Amino acid sequence: MLVSVNWSLALRPLLRKYHGRRHPLEYHNIYQLVVLVVLSAQSADDHINAFGPGLFKAFPDMSSLAKASREDLFPYISKVRNFGHKAEWLTAIARQVKKNSDIPLTLEGLTALPGIGRKSANVILREAGRPAEGIIVDLHVVRVAQRLGIVDEDDPKKIEKHLMEILPKRQWEAGMAMSFLGREICHPKPDCPKCLMRKVCAYYKHVFNAGH
Ligand code: SF4
Repeated sequence: MLVSVNWSLALRPLLRKYHGRRHPLEYHNIYQLVVLVVLSAQSADDHINAFGPGLFKAFPDMSSLAKASREDLFPYISKVRNFGHKAEWLTAIARQVKKNSDIPLTLEGLTALPGIGRKSANVILREAGRPAEGIIVDLHVVRVAQRLGIVDEDDPKKIEKHLMEILPKRQWEAGMAMSFLGREICHPKPDCPKCLMRKVCAYYKHVFNAGH
């Protein structure tokens, strides 16, 4: 059962810690970000970063990518999980968007593109400096939000909805902050002694019997 916690208050230290931290995907413009976000589905960001330089040398922008077939992309991304579908999505996105300056920077516009769901769109909007329209919920956030005791389910859509209900819009950066915590400290095997969320964390209280 979830314990009642004022999460808007409890998440403040985490939001402060990761405020403004750049996403680990190594991009130099929004075109590259969109491509890397699509490639990173179900893969680790570090792994995906390795493919950026070669791919962007061959296809430096949306208009060059729009002229490519999915097979043209294979030599650059064949070690990426599910690369066939991802090549299909990327070339379809490029044909639809046509040029870098026409990349839609709204949740609705981005999620209308193939291969881009809410999580990816939320990441792109954050990195583009646009106002948040939702909250990033990736696998790290699912794990961290459960452990903290904010949610007791694992459906990202429901978790996002819940977070949007309990947090004011100015704190919607909390998704990315939890994602960073999950990447750095709250690993599948969590490093709780190093964590600044111990005081409010349900998992910590339960496992270390550190509650009241
Ligand atoms: S205290 Fe432990 S389980 Fe809780 S959020 Fe931190 S690392 Fe994760």
